[in-house]
Amino acid sequence: MFGIVGIPVTEIAIAAQQLGIRYVGMRNEQAACYAASAIGYLTGRPGVCLVVSGPGLVHALGGMANANMNCWPLIVIGGSSERSQETMGAFQEFPQVEACRLYSKFSVRPSSIAAIPSVIEKAVRSSIYGRPGACYVDIPADFVTLQVNVNSIKYVECCMPPPVSMAEASAVHRAASVIRNAKRPLLIIGKGAAYARAEEGLRKLVEQCKLPFLPTPMGKGVIPDNHPNCVGAARSRALQFADVIVLFGARLNWILHFGVPPRYQPDVKFIQVDICAEELGNNVRPAVTLLGDINAVTKQLLEQFDKTQWQYPPESSWWKNLREKMKSNEAASKELASQNSLPMNYYTVFYHVQEQLPRDCIVVSEGANTMDIGRTVLQNCLPRHRLDAGTFGTMGVGLGFAIAAAIVAKDRNPGQRVICVEGDSAFGFSGMEVETICRYNLPIVLLVVNNNGIYQGVDKDSWKEMLKFGDATAVAPPVCLLPNSHYEQVMTAFGGTGYFVQTQEELQKSLRQSLADTTKPSLLNIMIEPQATRKAQVHSR
Ligand code: ADP
Ligand code: MG
Repeated sequence: MFGIVGIPVTEIAIAAQQLGIRYVGMRNEQAACYAASAIGYLTGRPGVCLVVSGPGLVHALGGMANANMNCWPLIVIGGSSERSQETMGAFQEFPQVEACRLYSKFSVRPSSIAAIPSVIEKAVRSSIYGRPGACYVDIPADFVTLQVNVNSIKYVECCMPPPVSMAEASAVHRAASVIRNAKRPLLIIGKGAAYARAEEGLRKLVEQCKLPFLPTPMGKGVIPDNHPNCVGAARSRALQFADVIVLFGARLNWILHFGVPPRYQPDVKFIQVDICAEELGNNVRPAVTLLGDINAVTKQLLEQFDKTQWQYPPESSWWKNLREKMKSNEAASKELASQNSLPMNYYTVFYHVQEQLPRDCIVVSEGANTMDIGRTVLQNCLPRHRLDAGTFGTMGVGLGFAIAAAIVAKDRNPGQRVICVEGDSAFGFSGMEVETICRYNLPIVLLVVNNNGIYQGVDKDSWKEMLKFGDATAVAPPVCLLPNSHYEQVMTAFGGTGYFVQTQEELQKSLRQSLADTTKPSLLNIMIEPQATRKAQVHSR
C-alpha cells in the first residue's frame, strides 16, 4: 500500500500495517499511485494507493489514468467526507466515485461497513480479470469511526487468479496458415505479453519457427534484446515492409503508428492476439483475430507448428534486408557514442551506462530524448524489467516506479538493482520522492541526464546573455530549465550519495561506485550537451 495519510485515512494505514500490509508513505498522491500501479504490472496482483478526500483523490487521478491506459491492475482507496455532510460543503467534499469512473473499470462506495470485504474482493477481481485496469473504492469519513458487529460481516475469500481463455480453434488454424504463407513475417511483442508472462512460449515460437520479432518499449526483455532474432535495431524497416504482422499484447496506437501507411504496407496482414475483444479491429481490418490469453494462445499456435515442423527460411532476403539495416543503424549510434567532445552526447552516456548495467537490473526510464535514445542503447534481458512513460506518455512516473520496483526486488531477489534513467525535466515532476527513497533506504541508482531543459536547453553563458534582454519570463525559451542545476544535491540532502558528472571518466567511475554500494541510493547528475539530439531517422520508401 502506497499513499499519503491525513483525514480520514490515517487510521486505515495504521490498521493495514497491523494486519501485515506494508505501507509506503510517499510525498505526492500521483507518485504513490504510479508506484502502486507498477506493483500490479510487476506482480500480476494489484497494489493499493491510499489517499485522502478531495485534493488527495484528485492528485491520484493522474496515476489511475496512467494505470488504466497501460492496462495495469490497481486499487485506489480514497477517504471521503462524512455522509451526513454531503452536499453541505463538507471539508474536501468532492464527487469522488463519479470522478474516478472515467479513470477506472469499477468505481464504487460500499453501502455499509459490512459490505467492504465483498466490494474489495470485487475491486481486486475486476482489476485483474479481462483487460487489467484501475478500480476505485470510496470510504466515507464516518465509516472509519462507525462500529459494526463482527458476526454480521460475511468475509469473502480473496479472488482466484483470472480464468484463462483460449482462442477459437479455427482462428488458430487460419492464423498459422497466414504465418506459414508470409514472405516477410514479423512478430510484435508488447507489454501485454510481458504482463501475461508469456516469455517461455513466445521464445519457443520465435526459435522454433525462426521468426523475426520486435519488442515494443515495455515488451523489451520478454525475449532478450540480444537474441539473434530481435530486429529492434531495424524497427522502422521491419514495420514498413512486413507482409504479415502478429501482435502479441500490443495495441495499434501511436506507439505502433496505428498500423497504417506510410509506416506499413497498405496490404499488410495483421493477426491480433489480445484478451480484450473490443481491441480487435481497432484502426485496421485484421486478417485473423485470436481472442484469448497470450500465454494460452501462443501454446495453441505452437501446437500448429509442432505438427508440421514449419520454419521460416533463415536465408530469406527479408532476413538479409533486416540484418543489413540493423548493422548500419548500430554502426551509426556507435559512431555517435565514440565522440569525445564535451559536454557528452546522449549516445556516449548510454554506451557507458550499458557497459556497466547488471544483466538482471530493472530499468526505469522517462524523459523525451533520454527515454527514446536510452531505449535503443540500454538492453533488457528479462521480462518485466523495463518501466517507462508507457501508453499515456506520462512524465513523473519514474521515481514511483523505481520505488515499487526496488521493493519488489528486495523481496524477490535481494541484491538486484533498480536503475532509474531520468531526463532533467522528467525528474522534476516527482523529485521530492528522493526523500521517500532515502527514508526507506532503497538502493536505487538514479541517473539524471541533464541538458538544462525540456527537449533542449541552453548553457550557462547563453542563459546569462539572454537575461540581458529582459526578464526570464519574457526572454527564456519555454523549453529552458535553470542551467547546471545540481540535482545530485537533492540526493545528498537526504543522506544518499550524489555525483556531478561532466566527463566520460567521471561517469564510469561514479557509476561503478554507485553499483558497488548496495547500502545506499545514489544520484548521478550527468551533464550533456544542451543542444544534443537523436540521430536522424531515415524512412526508406
Ligand atoms: P504496448 O504499449 O507494449 O504496445 P499495449 O499496452 O498497447 O502494449 O497493449 C497491451 C495489450 O495487451 C492490451 O490490449 C491488453 O488488452 C492486452 N493484454 C493484457 N493482458 C493480456 C493477456 N493476459 N492476454 C492477452 N492480452 C493481454
Ligand atoms: Mg532535459
